[in-house]
Amino acid sequence: MGLNQIKQRIAAAEAAAGRAPGSVQLIAVSKVQPAARVAAVLAEGQRLFGENYVQEAAGKWPAWRAEFPGVAVHMIGPLQTNKAKLAVELFEAIHTLDRPSLATKLANLAQARGASPELFIQVNTGAEPQKAGILPADLDAFVADVRGLDLPVCGLMCIPPDAEPPESHFAMLAEMAARNGLSGLSMGMSGDFEAAIAAGATHVRVGSAIFGARDYAAR
Ligand SMILES: *Cc1c(COP(=O)(O)O)cnc(C)c1O
Repeated sequence: MGLNQIKQRIAAAEAAAGRAPGSVQLIAVSKVQPAARVAAVLAEGQRLFGENYVQEAAGKWPAWRAEFPGVAVHMIGPLQTNKAKLAVELFEAIHTLDRPSLATKLANLAQARGASPELFIQVNTGAEPQKAGILPADLDAFVADVRGLDLPVCGLMCIPPDAEPPESHFAMLAEMAARNGLSGLSMGMSGDFEAAIAAGATHVRVGSAIFGARDYAAR
């Protein structure tokens, strides 16, 4: 599909929803993609990327940051506590703050460094047992706890259940963000980013529709 087509579809979805042009940020999800594909998208001007694995990001982004000024990389995958220190050094934002122990760890790191990436709290909107995220019923208290730790929480993130239409999950996330005074909404992937934009997404995370299918075997 390609970067330009996705940008056009985002612009059309913004317009259809009566939202300002440029109100949605495109995170190009480059995890597992061959370097040549990512380099091509950088050459086309894309500067915001998403990664799922700390080690993989640490291996590939320092060189590209040096070559392409203005690059920002957001962590969108599950974050192990023992990788948090490397993560706060690597990423401008972390979308997967999903448990109290990680909040504590990030707060300690923020104190030590005097800085923190922007944080999105991941919400398990479908209450799926195998999926990470704060349960909807626990969210308001968790937001208050994270704010109490002086962490810069800017929004909420969700990954709707595979087997359900995503719209109600996007609407639920938007409602929970508004209720908590949070303006950021990280929601929408290759298959559903237009629906997410209609529901108020500020950050869409699009991988395969830009880069092509991921080949995990070739990593
Ligand atoms: C991989 C991934 C994406 C991108 O998925 P595509 O379907 O390739 O667009 C978005 N968000 C998260 C959390 C991911 O892990």
